[in-house]
Amino acid sequence: MRKIGLIGGMSFESTSVYYRLINEMVRDRLGGLASADLLLHSVNFAEVVEMQKAGRWDKAARHLARSAVSLEAAGAECVLICTNTMHLVASEVQAAVDIPLVHIIDETAKALKSRGLKRPLLLATRYTMEHGFYTERMKTLGIDVMVPDADDRTDIHNIIFGELCAGTVLDASRLRAIAMIERAKAEGADSIILGCTEICLLLDPENLPLPCADSTAIHARAAVDFALGENTIDQVAA
Ligand code: GLU
Repeated sequence: MRKIGLIGGMSFESTSVYYRLINEMVRDRLGGLASADLLLHSVNFAEVVEMQKAGRWDKAARHLARSAVSLEAAGAECVLICTNTMHLVASEVQAAVDIPLVHIIDETAKALKSRGLKRPLLLATRYTMEHGFYTERMKTLGIDVMVPDADDRTDIHNIIFGELCAGTVLDASRLRAIAMIERAKAEGADSIILGCTEICLLLDPENLPLPCADSTAIHARAAVDFALGENTIDQVAA
């Protein structure tokens, strides 16, 4: 089994989901008491959020690149950035190491395409919905992402940072998110991307009005595929 390296803590609420899913998938595939061989560097999320708010993506890139280097030095054979938002600096992180970065956007695109889905609604942080790094990469992979309108983007961003990353899950927020999905469905969306690794804490992918790509589960599965030698990862162009 190859050793998985996780850059987590963004937030620790979703990293704990990664940890559980990766171990459950390894146990399911290998049986018995098998569990994942993995390393986790959990960062202080408050520091990362300050860099996001200040637009200091250069600083954030160096911060996460240092983390990837330390995971590689400790024996990790691949690295995952356990957040969609911080894939904004994925190419800088990949450039800092020789091991492959398992890219959340690429894996989510593959999962959608395998189900014939092409016009997903993206629910994510403001950075992921508005910066362009996500939707443009999806476009090159053949996926035409739809984003919510400005009010809904503000709502979902606030739900992520004000509630989910802080460990709070509210029924009222679940209903607001489902209303966004219904509106997008009426406007032609064929699916939903849970494009923030905490949204699976709010929405059950099995009980939504449209087929759903849960980025946390997809990313975790890709790591397990790599660890068990069932997948090769194309390195992100630096
Ligand atoms: N985990 C979230 C994501 O997938 C948001 C936290 C962050 O800003 O990194 O985008």
